[in-house]
Amino acid sequence: MKTGVIGSGTMGTGIAQLMAMAGEEVLIYDNNPAACERALERLQKIMQRLTEKGKVSQEEAEATLGRISFADKLIAFGDRELIVEAVIEDLGVKQDIFEQLEDLCSPDCILATNTSSLSVTSIAAACDRPQRVLGMHFFNPAPVMKLVEVVPALQTDRSLLSEIKALLEKWGKIPVEAKDTPGFIVNRIARPFYGEALRILEEGIADVATIDWAMTEMGGFRMGPFTLMDYIGNDVNYAVTETVFKAFYYDPRYKPSFTQKRLAEAGWLGRKSGRGYYDYSPGAQRPEPKEDPVLGLSIFKRILVMLINEAADALFWQIASREDIELAMTKGVNYPKGLLQWAEEIGIARCVEMMDELYDRYREDRYRCSPGLRNML
Ligand code: NAD
Repeated sequence: MKTGVIGSGTMGTGIAQLMAMAGEEVLIYDNNPAACERALERLQKIMQRLTEKGKVSQEEAEATLGRISFADKLIAFGDRELIVEAVIEDLGVKQDIFEQLEDLCSPDCILATNTSSLSVTSIAAACDRPQRVLGMHFFNPAPVMKLVEVVPALQTDRSLLSEIKALLEKWGKIPVEAKDTPGFIVNRIARPFYGEALRILEEGIADVATIDWAMTEMGGFRMGPFTLMDYIGNDVNYAVTETVFKAFYYDPRYKPSFTQKRLAEAGWLGRKSGRGYYDYSPGAQRPEPKEDPVLGLSIFKRILVMLINEAADALFWQIASREDIELAMTKGVNYPKGLLQWAEEIGIARCVEMMDELYDRYREDRYRCSPGLRNML
């Protein structure tokens, strides 16, 4: 298949690698020639590393790289059958690219956007043939993470969905279908993992190291929330939270945290800047958690029930099917268990009770129990 990728940053390069490894021909365009050079270097290095590790043969690596080429103008994309756009998260820039691509490509070409937080419908609206536009939301690193959220715009031709899902499965991916709403599935349901951890910190209930310890040791999550925010980058993670909060008409459930905002303002972005919630400079001592099982369990349960409440709410609002919600959180962000399954193991009545206890304590809309969770009783 003749595929194209627009934008050769983190995501574009990963998506191109994935496509080429799956046997597709890939053409890449970025309006910054330096980004193309970096992408080529990165792709060469990755293929070399995969060969050294014995994951692909020398011939396969060469063939993969042979399927990737770069274009210096969009006009070269005229013969493409599928194009995935992964440029900066800016509606105007994305709309402009879609408008141009549509003029160049055949009416059958599928135009996909990798946007994390913009409305796919608003991107499709820039096109004369919006029925050929949809969201294909990959996770970083795209060649490794199995999940892809497939997001039809209001205008998308439904038959395109089965075509794209089959293609993604052929590429070894797990597609889930999400309604075109802020954060789709993963970036919506995962918000309390960060937000509630920050709230617990701000209230002085526990420190960063203890909250991380509780979530990894008691909850079985691969990374604690603060380690993960430092890994994602506090600027990026804060921006996603703020975008979701605004897009939900300021629903207090998604309210961003001043603590994280200040970190972003200070340039304490996490690993990439050498300092975030933790200090990453050479020789820096990692703070010790307070390994108190009673405190740990209460922190973990509070964050977990908030996540369960979000999952139940997403199901209630028909953002995705139950199966896709469970797949999204286990394959997109490696949660140890599907949240709805977890809710059943704890007991739905107990989850509702925990939400009601939080609501009674704070009297904030943030802690309202979703009708979706209550309906499961
Ligand atoms: P990035 O900054 O690494 O790369 C963006 C690239 O787009 C840059 O190379 C830039 O030169 C290029 N670009 C900007 N304007 C352009 C234009 N007009 N034409 C062509 N190229 C242009 O960003 P990224 O992290 O790869 O994110 C890209 C998209 O993927 C965004 O929409 C983002 O929301 C989404 N996304 C990111 C992640 C992630 O974890 N980074 C995950 C899923 C989705």
